[in-house]
Amino acid sequence: MQRPHSQMPEASSHLGGSLLGALLISACTGNPRTEPACDVVIISIDTVRADALTFEDRKVSPHLCDLAERGVIFDQAIAGSSWTLPSHAELFTGLPPILHGVHDDGRRIDPLHATLGERLGALGMHTAGVFSGWFLAGAYGFGRGFDSYRCALTDEPAADQALANALDAGGTEALWARDMRGFASHLDVSSDRVVELAEQAILEAPDDQRLALFVHFFDPHHDFIPPSPFDTHFDPEYEGEMTGEGYWNNPSIFDPTLDSGRIVSDRDLQHLRALYQGEIAWVDDRIGDLMATLEAAGRMENTLFIVLSDHGEEFFEHGNRGHRQTLYDEVLRVPLLVVPPRSSKSETGPLHSTRQVALCDLLPTIMDYVGSPAPEGCWGRTLRPLVEGRDRPARAVVSHLGLGAAHGSRAPLRILESYRSEEYKLIRRLQWGADPLGPQLEAIEWFDLTADPGEEVPIQSGERAQIAETWAVAEAEFEALRRFAAQLPHSPVDELTTDVTRIFMHELAGLGYGGNELDAPEPENRWPVRPGPALPLPPVLPR
Ligand SMILES: [Zn+2]
Repeated sequence: MQRPHSQMPEASSHLGGSLLGALLISACTGNPRTEPACDVVIISIDTVRADALTFEDRKVSPHLCDLAERGVIFDQAIAGSSWTLPSHAELFTGLPPILHGVHDDGRRIDPLHATLGERLGALGMHTAGVFSGWFLAGAYGFGRGFDSYRCALTDEPAADQALANALDAGGTEALWARDMRGFASHLDVSSDRVVELAEQAILEAPDDQRLALFVHFFDPHHDFIPPSPFDTHFDPEYEGEMTGEGYWNNPSIFDPTLDSGRIVSDRDLQHLRALYQGEIAWVDDRIGDLMATLEAAGRMENTLFIVLSDHGEEFFEHGNRGHRQTLYDEVLRVPLLVVPPRSSKSETGPLHSTRQVALCDLLPTIMDYVGSPAPEGCWGRTLRPLVEGRDRPARAVVSHLGLGAAHGSRAPLRILESYRSEEYKLIRRLQWGADPLGPQLEAIEWFDLTADPGEEVPIQSGERAQIAETWAVAEAEFEALRRFAAQLPHSPVDELTTDVTRIFMHELAGLGYGGNELDAPEPENRWPVRPGPALPLPPVLPR
């Protein structure tokens, strides 16, 4: 018997009582009677750093290399944060994290901010989404506006077994849900199910309706456990003991009690990189099947394709592993491929754009191609001129990361903010004290990206003038963001806070499990929604 995979979209419940929201969405989405000009396929591959997927290395991604020959590869695509939830909220709203405010596990997308599904659905497109990492859950707002938004997370036999084990051990469904969160984040291998559900969505789309398909793959996120033959694809000679299972807590990789932290040898780290690369190759293999289904359905030619990742992954470039800890380029710079509709294979290979672009540019790009240029309420700008070989002015990217306090904890909040031009990057760490004090500056780093692309040499004492100059232009950008934020509608923070375990159980309820509401109170949420006040550069630079 098949369990229902489909999730009801969240749109109606979120928007039901909000006249302002409805007005905003109506204003943002344009005239719903305009016939959309093309199909749209958006493929998000989680946790892929730019150098791990170039779209030109056939050993890694033969299917995406084929696709790239019709499109433009963006060499400087920058995410607005270094983890899944805020980066995907950026993709879905056209707003960088500093503006959409989805900064921690318990915050959902503001219902007053129109999303991808709502905007494309309002144009009359058939909208379908498939996701496989639980930060993409419909309850965070990602399902809004979709005709179907399916969860490919956690295969049913594994979930059945885990639930039986939990109940046998005297546990509860809530505890089981927490265990399954860990399983789904690390050990689940889901790309086959993603493609199966995406193919189902393609076949369901009415022939006479334009399709907008969002597909999210999670497998390159740790643990690094690619299926055969991808487990030996990039390091066949390896004879050591290291595996990618239990990566995050493996004491032979990293010991958080040590100053240096790192334990893993160069050779074993090389093997872990090979396993990570194997995960990306495995996802490309699955994308090959997805492309064949699109071709058979006649949905390949007049289709805008966007392939991206939400953030990268650190392999000890700055002393740590994983992501969601820093704003260096290994976690912010991501692969991005845009293939315009009706494009043909280039004689000279894929085209490249070296302009810096942001993930919040993708929603305006999509709206431009379907025939609804310049959508309101977006900070991002269309990439169409760059795709068509025209230039556009360089634009800085501001990224944001909340640090140091678990959701609901009373520990001081810390926030990292980066300002990245095409030439340099400023990173500052703030402590968010009691309200009257506002943010306190704790540290600054400044990098010359041309001379030091690895961001290895931070502030030099002689560079103060240069830092002051960057600080001034960065503050001007922050001021522009504050002005933009003041124009955006914002729901009260209380209405945006949600319990993470409840979200996960809601998602599993779509698989036929659980669905019990928990008794736990909603956690306190103190993350600021809007950009903070202006900060002067202090006379002595904090290190
Ligand atoms: Zn992610």
